[in-house]
Amino acid sequence: MAIATINPATGELLKTFEPLNDAQIAQKLDLAQQAFEKYHKTLFGERSVWMQSCADILEQEKEDFAKIMTLEMGKPFKAAIAEVEKCAVVCRYYAEHAAQFLADVTVTTDASHSFIKYQPLGVILAVMPWNFPFWQVFRFAAPALMAGNVGLLKHASNVPQCALAIEEIIQRAGFPKGVFQTLLIGASKVTDLMTDERIKAATLTGSEPAGISLATAAGKQIKKTVLELGGSDPFIVLESADLEAAVATATTARMLNNGQSCIAAKRFIVVETIADKFEKLLLEKFQALKIGDPMQSETDLGPLATPDILKDLDQQVQAGVKSGAKVLTGGHPLSDRPGNFYPPTILTDISPENPVAQEEFFGPVAMLFRVPNIDAAIKLANATPFGLGASAWTTNSQERDRLIEEIEAGSVFINGMVKSDPRLPFGGIKRSGYGRELSIQGIHEFVNVKTVWVK
Ligand code: NAP
Repeated sequence: MAIATINPATGELLKTFEPLNDAQIAQKLDLAQQAFEKYHKTLFGERSVWMQSCADILEQEKEDFAKIMTLEMGKPFKAAIAEVEKCAVVCRYYAEHAAQFLADVTVTTDASHSFIKYQPLGVILAVMPWNFPFWQVFRFAAPALMAGNVGLLKHASNVPQCALAIEEIIQRAGFPKGVFQTLLIGASKVTDLMTDERIKAATLTGSEPAGISLATAAGKQIKKTVLELGGSDPFIVLESADLEAAVATATTARMLNNGQSCIAAKRFIVVETIADKFEKLLLEKFQALKIGDPMQSETDLGPLATPDILKDLDQQVQAGVKSGAKVLTGGHPLSDRPGNFYPPTILTDISPENPVAQEEFFGPVAMLFRVPNIDAAIKLANATPFGLGASAWTTNSQERDRLIEEIEAGSVFINGMVKSDPRLPFGGIKRSGYGRELSIQGIHEFVNVKTVWVK
């Protein structure tokens, strides 16, 4: 895939970028390693000042950064602004908490003094997706840099200007040269990078094939990885739920980021007794959404990020229909305009044998399932290869406890939408990946947990 900015709302090619050649990549690796040798000796207090300064820049120039995101990947401008603000929050969170999260921990043993010491690993490679082009990077960079690591970013090829803007923010904030660099390279270069001894570990957010490829390369070198992959999150609605609130949240949760979020609610699992009403209300909400230019403040749903995503989503819907699914609304790309527009779509009557029941729809397509009771709801929720998040709606405390206990996912949200929060760990199980980002768990992923024992 060429490294380029193509406006997904118009299809217009705005700018292309020459990928780095091998000599340029080698120079950046050298610089990263040299930077680490000094940077890991800096104090938490110094790193914290630079990280707070990142947050200041993000907040002061949020509209400029939001415009780059919307231009390159099509998210509604108001959502892009919220994303920049959230990046500032994660920078401040780790600026304030890193020293405490990484403080020595004394453990009483037969030694005169034994303790756990956390030390940075070195150069960490981050392979990141386009869908939250600022947030995904800052949620890696804030803890990694506060821990004393240095970062190399291989961002998705369709968001090069976001990638360069992030590198510049971190530089301007005062971090020493080389502590965070963007590598404008294609995906095919990643495997080779993992064999370079200066790269000590890697994190990837993206698709399963990309995760498998990176983890295989890293595994051959015995290097640690964190993988944040796809999801097909269930959204369970039981009889006692506040139906209006559930439907409103269901709509927001499915349409977030033009339907292209790993933790979007994708499978709506509703008990029979309230299913007709839920379906009617959801249909009304979906049909009321305003599709259009993502730069306009009234737009709810912008274009998909690339023509390939549009094509894949369309083929997936057609395959689902061929296997018996019914289309309640939407179901075809919008051909009346340029750009990668796909309408809000609801699929029903999806049998367990329908292949799409096991797949992730990375666009504004909701799958609606009817179940007789909570047992069937939990069974269906768990019947996918994924295990990222889950949202479940009930006011019955026994049901709530069962949902928390029995759903197979990295997170369960009761009567609310699955979302990431710097204070809470984030990540998946099963084929959604492994490792955690955010919170104390996130900063502990890329450190040497050193045991110290003194007689
Ligand atoms: P993708 O194609 O896997 O791209 C993600 C990143 O991986 C890009 O930088 C891409 O580079 C790179 N890449 C692609 N193939 C690779 C390979 N074989 N080896 C190494 N790197 C490779 O993912 P996407 O389709 O853009 O993103 C959608 C997927 O990401 C969905 O499944 C979504 O659920 C998941 N996702 C998960 C999370 C989470 O936190 N769990 C968050 C967001 C998205 P190029 O752009 O150069 O190809």
